Order: sequence, then C-alpha cells, then structure tokens
Amino acid sequence: MNRGDRPELLWGFGLNTIEADKIEDSLGPGFFLRNFSERSLPGAKELRHPEKPSATWIPLRVWNELSEARRATYRKQESTQRILIQDENEKNVDLESVLEDGFLAVVSSPLTSSKVQDALFRAKEVAGLYGDLYRMTEEIIMERELLSRKTEQLMFLNTVLSNATERLEVGDILGQAAEDLKLLLPVLSVQGVFWDVASTEKQAEAEIFLNPGLIPEIQGEWTEFMIENVKELSGTEVAGYNLSETVPAGDAAMCYGPTGGRVLALPLISRGEKFGCLIMLCDKSVRLAKDQVNTLNAAVNHLSLALNNALMFTKIKSRADRDGLTRVFNRRSFDERMAEELRRHQRHCMDLSLLMIDLDHFKNVNDTYGHIAGDMVLETVARMFEETFRTTDFIARYGGEEFVILLPHTNAVQAEMLAERIRAKIESCTMTYQAVDFKVTASIGVSSVRPGSLEKDSELVLKADEALYKAKELGRNRVVVNAPVARLRIV
Ligand code: GH3
Ligand code: MG
Ligand code: MG
Repeated sequence: MNRGDRPELLWGFGLNTIEADKIEDSLGPGFFLRNFSERSLPGAKELRHPEKPSATWIPLRVWNELSEARRATYRKQESTQRILIQDENEKNVDLESVLEDGFLAVVSSPLTSSKVQDALFRAKEVAGLYGDLYRMTEEIIMERELLSRKTEQLMFLNTVLSNATERLEVGDILGQAAEDLKLLLPVLSVQGVFWDVASTEKQAEAEIFLNPGLIPEIQGEWTEFMIENVKELSGTEVAGYNLSETVPAGDAAMCYGPTGGRVLALPLISRGEKFGCLIMLCDKSVRLAKDQVNTLNAAVNHLSLALNNALMFTKIKSRADRDGLTRVFNRRSFDERMAEELRRHQRHCMDLSLLMIDLDHFKNVNDTYGHIAGDMVLETVARMFEETFRTTDFIARYGGEEFVILLPHTNAVQAEMLAERIRAKIESCTMTYQAVDFKVTASIGVSSVRPGSLEKDSELVLKADEALYKAKELGRNRVVVNAPVARLRIV
C-alpha cells in the first residue's frame, strides 16, 4: 500500500465504546483509531515504534489514574498531540494544569462530530504553531552563534592588528603573531622570510627569521626551505641571505623542522607585490574550515602591513647606523658603543681591547687602479673583518681607509693575536679589479684596558692611534701594541 493512502493513526487511552465509536465516525475512513485498554496502555516498545499517532485521545479519568512516572513518559512524547476528554459531570478542568501536562486541546463529553473534528483541528494547529516557534527559536540560536563567531573573529583580528602595530621590529612581530594565531589554530611556530630583488641582477637577497634556539640541523632544514620558497614566490635566484631571530613572546620557541607538522606558507603582499612569506607550522591534524581560512587571510593582510613597515624601519635605522659603502657601523655608532662598553668595563671589571686599522699607502691604490678599485678594496676588507671577528665584536669605519674594531672580553695578548691574524689575512689576499691583480697591506694599533683600571673615554682610542702611528713609522704592514699600564682604582 502506498504511504499516502494509509489512514492517519490515532491512539486512544482507555476510551469507552461510545467515545471510540464517536471519534471513528466523526473523522471518517482517513483515520484509524487504535484504542488501548486502561490496563494495557502503550509501553516503551509501542512508544519506540516508528509509526507515531498524530493525536492521542485521553479521558481525564484515565489520566488521573496514571502514576506520575507514566504521565511523565507520555508528556515527553513530542511527536503526538494529546487531546483531553473531559467527562460531562466533571468540573471544568484548570486550563493551566492541562497546558502544563502538554494537552493541546480539551473536549468535553458527550462527544459530537463537530467537537471531535474541532479538537483535532485545534490540536494540529497548536502543534503547527509550536513547530514554527521551535524552528524560529532554532534559527535565532543559529544567528546568535554566527554573530558570536563573527565577534570572536573581529576581536581576534583586533588583537593581531594592535599587537603588530605596537611593534617596530620584524622579529618581535613574528614572535607575537605566533602567540596571537594560537587563538585561531594550533600553531607550533611562526617564522618568516623577506626578500629584496635587485632589479638589475634579478637576484634576491633574503632575510630569514627563524625561532631562536634551533639545533643546527633543524636550522639548516628551515633555511633551505625558506630559500626554496623565495625562489618560487619571487621567481628569482637567491644571491645571499641573512639569518635573524624571532622574539618569542611567552613560552619558548618550538624546535620543530619543516616535517614536524603541517606547514602553511602565506605570501605577504604590499602594493600588489610579494615581499615575503610567513611560514607557519601547525599541528599535523589541523584542518581549516572555510571561515578560519578567511580569518587567517585577513590576519595575514594585517601582518603584511605591519611587517612591511617594520622592514622599512629597520632599513632606515640601519642606514643611519652604518657606513654606506662598507655596511659596517659608522663613526657615530662607534662613539656610542665605545661609551657603552667602557661603562660596562667599569661596572663588571672585564677586559676590553681596541684595534685601529689603517690601509697602507692607500692613496697609491687610488692613484694606480682608480677610486672605484679603492672602494672595492674597502668593501673587501670590511667583509674580511666580518668573517674573522665574533658577532659580539664591534666593527666600524672610523673614516677614510681607517677601521676600528672593539673587542669586549679580550685582553692585550688576545687582541694582538687577532690583529696579527687579520693583518696576515689582508696581506695574503689578492685583490682583482678589471682583471688586474694587486695587493694591499694594513697597519694596526692595539690598545687595551685592564679590568679595574680607570680610563677616560678617549684614552683607549688615543692609545690605539699612538700604536698605529708607531706601526706606520716602523715601516707599515705590522701590529703594534700599546701595553696597558696597570693603575689602581681609587675608591
Ligand atoms: P698611509 O700608509 O700613511 O696610511 O698612507 P695612505 O695613502 O693610506 O694615507 P693618506 O691618509 O695619505 O691617504 C688616504 C687615502 O685614502 C686618501 C683617500 O683618497 C683615500 N680614501 C679615503 N676614503 C676613501 C674612500 O671612501 N674610497 C676610496 N677609494 N678612497 C678613499
Ligand atoms: Mg692609510
Ligand atoms: Mg688614514
């Protein structure tokens, strides 16, 4: 039989014959009434049956005889509408308690066709209204959920934006972004790479920011990964790169390589051009929902802006601190650092030495090979210094062809050894300019302050200068040490 042809099922609870007959007669063949006797009202099995009655007729006398547990069971039946039949001689029932018991309509005996039809119609109407209300409530709940998710997203973006704009250093912004993005997804680390394409050479210089404290092997893996990324995104070869560190905010940086999770590489764009890439390492299990992807993209746009500003700030700052030709620090930064190191020396009683390096007969180099060749020599020598000295040593161009190198925690003997090493290195290096080979040499003056001695700021420089003058006098291409004189600190 077709489901549509099936009569609508109704239940009756302990209806007497008059009531049952009246209901059946009033509703006609489209309905089938199953009347349970008062002693065998439907139990769990019947209630679970997939075919549910659209209405259940229950006389008040039967309802009143039920145990509270039974009533509760029937009250919970939401798929059926319950109609209460009130006896002729019963007092009018309290409407409130009828509603509380979940009856959708009340009809009084003796039943008539119109009463039966009307009660069933009303019960269905009320059920329909309940259904509408239920759906509307569900919609409201869903809207509220959407709204609260949108608010959360906005608050998240606001956090990312304000934290990023508060910071001026690229490493700081990346470290903070790692913390903030954890609100959105299980982030293990955030690192980044930025590039500057020299338009003439079609080669990129990459600035790589990695988490601090990575073991060398993992640092190598990330560096390679970043360089590949630059090649792909910028479409150029990578001529060289510089490694910097992110500043972790809160907990320590994670020490995972690129295979330690799922990597999301998010290109950073400014004025329509890619200038970098955010490399996010997430938990392997991460799956992004569509709205998370949208939020992440919005966050990356904010970060792009802040990172681009920070890169510009770093560039401007480095321009002010460094010498334009050799890229080592300039005289002004040297004076500042010198004062700082001397203070530290006084406070912590540490060794401190200074090398003053002057290229020999440099005027001849210019005169013989040209000024541009001279510039190239200055650049080459500066790179040699960077290769030879520690990152804690401070290399500066003091002026012309003269350099100074400040060596903290280094005594006169160690400083002399270092000076000799760099002198020999310069001497043995062959310079080439326009296919012509030539050599240069340097004279070096060394001065030191001993822990605990009292020195004026200018004394260390003066003594190195004296030593340098002596080295020139003695025939150049040599190291002369101006030995420190021990003086007692007057307390
Ligand atoms: P000495 O061994 O006594 O130091 O002789 P010198 O020729 O090196 O010394 P002098 O002070 O007479 O000459 C320094 C030369 O360095 C002169 C100047 O043209 C050159 N010089 C200074 N700055 C630069 C620069 O930025 N580029 C080039 N190419 N030459 C420079
Ligand atoms: Mg010179
Ligand atoms: Mg000079």
